[in-house]
Amino acid sequence: MSMNSVGRPTRPTLVATLPGAIPATLGGGRGLLQDEALIFEREGWDSSGVDLPEPSQDASDLGDMVRRAPIGLPGLSEPEAMRHYVRLSQKNHAIDLALYPLGSCTMKHNPRLNEKMARLPGFADVHPLQPQSSVQGALELMDQLAHWLMTLTGMSAVAMSPKAGAHGELCGLLAIRAAHEARGDARKRVLVPTSAHGTNPATAAFVGYEVEEIAQTADGRVDIADLAAKLGPDVAAIMVTNPNTCGLFERDVIQIAELVHAAGAYFYCDGANFNAIVGRVRPGDLGVDAMHINLHKTFSTPHGGGGPGSGPVVLSAALAPFAPTPFVVKRGEAYELVEYREGEAVQAFGRLCAFHGQMGMYVRALSYMLSHGADGLKQVAEDAVLNANYIKARLSGVMSAAFEGPCMHEALFDDHWLEGTGITTLDFAKAMIDEGFHPMTMYFPLVVHGAMLIEPTETESKAELDRFCDVLLLLAEAAKAGDVERFKGAPFHAPLRRLDETLAARRPRLRWRPELSTDVAAE
Ligand SMILES: *Cc1c(COP(=O)(O)O)cnc(C)c1O
Repeated sequence: MSMNSVGRPTRPTLVATLPGAIPATLGGGRGLLQDEALIFEREGWDSSGVDLPEPSQDASDLGDMVRRAPIGLPGLSEPEAMRHYVRLSQKNHAIDLALYPLGSCTMKHNPRLNEKMARLPGFADVHPLQPQSSVQGALELMDQLAHWLMTLTGMSAVAMSPKAGAHGELCGLLAIRAAHEARGDARKRVLVPTSAHGTNPATAAFVGYEVEEIAQTADGRVDIADLAAKLGPDVAAIMVTNPNTCGLFERDVIQIAELVHAAGAYFYCDGANFNAIVGRVRPGDLGVDAMHINLHKTFSTPHGGGGPGSGPVVLSAALAPFAPTPFVVKRGEAYELVEYREGEAVQAFGRLCAFHGQMGMYVRALSYMLSHGADGLKQVAEDAVLNANYIKARLSGVMSAAFEGPCMHEALFDDHWLEGTGITTLDFAKAMIDEGFHPMTMYFPLVVHGAMLIEPTETESKAELDRFCDVLLLLAEAAKAGDVERFKGAPFHAPLRRLDETLAARRPRLRWRPELSTDVAAE
């Protein structure tokens, strides 16, 4: 078997026996799916997919720079190139194939209308250095989207340029730091609940704050007594996700905001779960001072697999003057970009990226908003919560829910129900792959043992939810009946079987090199 330098197979392992004694295939293909080598492992390096005319015999102008050896690009015809990429794409899961139940990620259907709009040449082909008079439509779209975001959240300003949720957190905390510093009040600590997404403490530390954890109550919410005890004159901010990463609404959110403000600190809300409350709750009314909105979660737009993100940050009146440049303003009939720290931007904390943010994401998000309308967005939240509770209700008899009572947009299970079976959360998730489903989020939030966090989103129909629940219930039955092999060996049907994910994360190989791909590496 061919191994790469860290001992991972570069080809599917042909298994002799699968559950039910299904014979392995001889050539590595499965069903109608073909095995596919990396493009650099193919023959034909000196050929070309295009028929170029012979170069003339004139002397080259390149002198010493003339190429003496092949540059190492594979030569493929159009059908070969097409098949290569289509075959590779079939080895991955996609939201267009089936439910993508990753909790905390909001993987919803991306309407084709969004894609059509994002490809309009007036949006797709603009250049960030074009004269502003020639991109008035694009600036107007940014202004409209900003208006929707401020209206939906009840906030005074929005910084559009952050390129992801985590980048938005950075933006929010930099604005908070600038606001404290403007008062000559340098503060040291940021409080973060134990269930927080890892980006929250990472951001606070990156900005230079000490991070202190706030305990969680038995019912999965912020422990108010612990918060009150830890607040003090050196606390700059609290970072709270609402609904939180356990899929629960922070019931005491107003009290949290009051305590935080009374201590002279700011309330940063991680808005990654805004999908559950969009159109129903305005975070500004809850006392939030800054919140990022992952456009790529709440307002559709493709993500996963490293696609672009966009994380605008809405800001309260207290923080608005510190918003980063650039931002769009309307003067008379014309839209203008405020680029420098002068005039209305004199207190801006700086800028976060070279240009204005992710134009393609703005177009998709606004298309999503306009096609739903205000009432439709409210229904998004309602349907997302309904779907999650449907899953929670169907699976609860067999799997153990981490917390009692209804959930918001995601259903959280722990691994108590697997006790004594010898099967772990990881094994269970791998068996889901064999059944054609992407696993749910596993082992997060960390406060729940063996967590399985399932988020269906509003875009799944009852039929799709039932298909998913039926499979999970069958798997759960198999687990409880002692069919351990089905889980321990899973996935049997995936192209590469079970990988060493820790090694892959710790020692990623990001560049293919021929000398590493062969048997030498297997040592
Ligand atoms: C997704 C997520 C983030 C980070 O957002 P990115 O866009 O991935 O940077 C932060 N917090 C929570 C709760 C999230 O789910």
